[in-house]
Amino acid sequence: MEFIDLKSQQARIRTRIEERIKAILDHGGYILGPEVQELEKKLAAYIDMPHCISCANGTDALRMPLMALGIGPGDAVFVPSFTFFATAEVVSLVGATPVFVDILPDTFNIDPQSLKNAIETLPKRFPNLKPKGIIAVDLFGLCADYTALHEIAKKNNLFLMEDGAQSFGATYHEKKACSLTNISTTSFFPAKPLGCYGDGGAIFCSDDTLAATLKSIRVHGHGKDKYHNIRIGLNGRLDTIQAAILLEKLSIFDEEIEARNRVAARYTKELKDIVITPKIAEGYGSVWAQYTLRTPNRDKVIAKLKEKDIPTMIYYPIPIHLQEAYTELGYREGELPVCEEMAKTVFSIPMHPYLSDREQDLIVSSVKDVLSMPQ
Ligand SMILES: *Cc1c(COP(=O)(O)O)cnc(C)c1O
Repeated sequence: MEFIDLKSQQARIRTRIEERIKAILDHGGYILGPEVQELEKKLAAYIDMPHCISCANGTDALRMPLMALGIGPGDAVFVPSFTFFATAEVVSLVGATPVFVDILPDTFNIDPQSLKNAIETLPKRFPNLKPKGIIAVDLFGLCADYTALHEIAKKNNLFLMEDGAQSFGATYHEKKACSLTNISTTSFFPAKPLGCYGDGGAIFCSDDTLAATLKSIRVHGHGKDKYHNIRIGLNGRLDTIQAAILLEKLSIFDEEIEARNRVAARYTKELKDIVITPKIAEGYGSVWAQYTLRTPNRDKVIAKLKEKDIPTMIYYPIPIHLQEAYTELGYREGELPVCEEMAKTVFSIPMHPYLSDREQDLIVSSVKDVLSMPQ
């Protein structure tokens, strides 16, 4: 059994992908070719944002706006500690400091109250840092609480960025993920809900000037042309071939989201009484990048599933404030209790649009085998 079955998806669209790649081999526009512009237009239209700037990966997608905003040494950016490492890493990459915030146990997303506390206590904890912004993450495909976050950002004069690496395709009160802040980002890493066959990412923004700056940063800080450089940038482009693959995947994406939701609904129905299943509040639509369960008996369940050849993953085993890379910030165990508790109790089970009922039955019955027994 596959944790994420990319083969079934490929079988569905393989011919069209091959035709798309063949067209690129014919036209030869490997870098920023016409497929890149076509994809950017379609992605921007899909989430109803004025600008889409595709880029090399989801990490650059986060890093480029920080560069554009001039975030650097002496700046604090608030990030949840329970996320993929890149969310915090990009802050450090531009020379700024990530300040870690706890999450809510029901959504795995940044806790507005913990964020307020982190902002208030910043002068005491990190007296040399100036608060600049917040990167919220839509973990496992579920949007964070942007109503509360916008209010906090505005009150404290902070930028608010949405790390939608796992949530492209999700919804939040009639709006689409990656359109919930002035700058938002996503990743097309193969295992993400909308993934390519390599690395890829995108930035979405509403501001024309910022969009132009991001395009310049994407190609070595170019000015009027590639050999006129007006700022420090990156080589941050998305390959034309990856754009073409994404165009074909985008054409079946809505159907896939429906299928993911069917799989999730069935898991929840079968498992909600024996293990803590994900909660999706009114007004939210998850894209189910992961289906993540919580139980103190995680190790037993994982071992049982392994016996049956069912893959599981732990996202994430170590919250970022306790990662070795950040020892110098001086965080200690116990400071962000929800992140720490989640790291000890979560595990994710196979989730993709092509999971068969038979496979799902086996997963459900195996989880039940362990957890229905008296512990
Ligand atoms: C995957 C991911 C990223 C990084 O994306 P890459 O394309 O792998 O660079 C950033 N943030 C989150 C939350 C992610 O899941």
